[in-house]
Amino acid sequence: MSTVVLGGGLAGLTAAYALERDGHGVTVLEAQEAPGGACRSFAEDGFTFDLTGHLLHVAREETRQLLEELGLWEELEIHERRAAVVIGGRATPYPVQINTWGLSDEVRRDCLLGFVRAWCQHGEEAAPADFRRWVLGRFGEGLARHFFFPYNEKLYRVRPEELSLDWVGRYVPKPALEEVIDGALGLHRNRVGYNALFRYPRRGGIALLPDAIAGRLRCLEPGNRAGVVDTDARVVETENGRRFSWERLIATIPLPALVDRLRPKPPAEVLEARRALRWVSVLNVALGLEGLAPTDQHWLYFPDPQLPFYRVGFPSNHGDLAPPDCHTVSIEVSMDPGAGDPQAMAEAAERALEAAGYLDRSRILVRRTAILDPAYVVFDHARSGALAIIRRELAGRGVLLAGRWAQWVYSAMEDAMLDGLAAARQIIGAEGA
Ligand SMILES: Cc1cc2nc3c(=O)[nH]c(=O)nc-3n(C[C@H](O)[C@H](O)[C@H](O)COP(=O)(O)OP(=O)(O)OC[C@H]3O[C@@H](n4cnc5c(N)ncnc54)[C@H](O)[C@@H]3O)c2cc1C
Repeated sequence: MSTVVLGGGLAGLTAAYALERDGHGVTVLEAQEAPGGACRSFAEDGFTFDLTGHLLHVAREETRQLLEELGLWEELEIHERRAAVVIGGRATPYPVQINTWGLSDEVRRDCLLGFVRAWCQHGEEAAPADFRRWVLGRFGEGLARHFFFPYNEKLYRVRPEELSLDWVGRYVPKPALEEVIDGALGLHRNRVGYNALFRYPRRGGIALLPDAIAGRLRCLEPGNRAGVVDTDARVVETENGRRFSWERLIATIPLPALVDRLRPKPPAEVLEARRALRWVSVLNVALGLEGLAPTDQHWLYFPDPQLPFYRVGFPSNHGDLAPPDCHTVSIEVSMDPGAGDPQAMAEAAERALEAAGYLDRSRILVRRTAILDPAYVVFDHARSGALAIIRRELAGRGVLLAGRWAQWVYSAMEDAMLDGLAAARQIIGAEGA
C-alpha cells in the first residue's frame, strides 16, 4: 500500500517516519526546498534564527520515546521558563494573574479588586457564552482590562466576545483566590502553566527536530507543492506537473488550502464552511545584535494596544544561537493574512521596541523577516460548526488530517508529532485488520 503525505513539517515527517519504520511505502510532498515547515531554522553570519520562538514541551511518554529513538533526547536541554508580562512599562513574571506584585500599585489594585469582586459577587458562570464573559467571570474586570482583553485582541485581531472558549482549557492558567492574593504580595514563585519547563537544542535551532526525522526518510520530495488533490482518481498533481498516486493520503497542509485543491470540487456547504475559517498571520522580525541582551528573560508579552507586537523573544537566552558577546531578538506582530506592508510593519515594530527600552537599533548586525501564514487559528463562534462540515467531507473522501493547520487547532510541536504517529497508526492498523 502506498501513502502520500502532503506537507513535510513535523506532523508529515513523523507520519512518514512511522510508516517507513513499519515497512510501508510512503512519499512526502513538501512545497519548500527544505522540510520542517514552521520548525525550520536559518543560519546567517553566525546567528541562528527560528521562525519565532519554538520551544519544546514534552508531556507524553510516547514523545520522549520517539525523541530517544531519533537520538534527540540528550541533545535537548531543559530550561525553566523566564517570561514576563509588560504593563505600563513594568515587567512582572508570567502568568500575570498570580504575579501582579511587579506592576504599579494602581494596576495591581485594579487586578486584585476585580478578581475578588468576580470571585465573591458573581462567581464563574456555569457556561459562559464567550471569551469575554469567561474572562470577566473568572479573572475580573482589572485583569481583563490590563491583560486578557488587549493581549488577545492584538493577537487574534477580533473582539473578546467574538472568541469561543474552545481553546482556553490548556493555555490559560486558572488560579485560586489564595494564589492571586499571594501573587499580588509576591509571596510565591510557583511553576505554573503548560510551558513552565521547556526543552531546546543545545546547539543550533529547532530545525534539529525535523532535520533528524527527514534525514532518516527515503521518500522526501521537497520543492513539490501539491496543486490538485483528486480523491476520486487518488492522485496528487504538483504545481510543477508531477503526479503521485496513493492508496492512503495524509494531509498536513493548512485546511483552507487543502479544500481549495480538492477534486471533484466539494459541495457548496463545504465551500461555505471553508470561507468561514478565520486565522491570523504573524510577521516575525528576527534580529542579530552585538552586545548583551537587554534582559535575561526568554520572552515578554506586551498587551499594550499602542505597541505593534504582542510578544518579543530573546532566543539566545536559552540557545546557542549567537556569536560570543552577541544576542538575538525575535519580534512577533499579528496581522490579517495578506494585509499590510511587512517592511513598514517591521520598521514600526523595531522603533516601538527601541522606545520601550528592549532594543538598540544601532547594534543590529543581521535582520531577517518572515511571515507565518497561517499562524493562529481564530476560535470564533463559526469555527467548530464549519470544521465539522469540512472534516466530514474529508473523512468521506478517505483523507486523514494531521498537524496544527490541517486539524485547524491551536497546538504545539509535540501534538504535531503525536498527530503524525496517530495517522500512521491508523493506516498500519487498517492494513493489519
Ligand atoms: C508564532 C508561532 C509560535 C509557535 N511556538 C511554538 C512553541 O514555542 N512550541 C511549540 O511546541 N509549538 C509552537 N508553535 C506551533 C508549531 O509551529 C506547530 O505545532 C508545528 O510546527 C506544526 O507542524 P505541522 O507539521 O502541523 O505544520 P507545518 O510545520 O506548517 O508543516 C506543513 C508543511 O506543509 C507544507 N505545505 C504547505 N502547502 C503545501 C502544498 N500545497 N504542498 C506541499 N506542501 C505544502 C509547508 O511548507 C510545511 O512544511 C508555534 C506556532 C506559531 C505560529
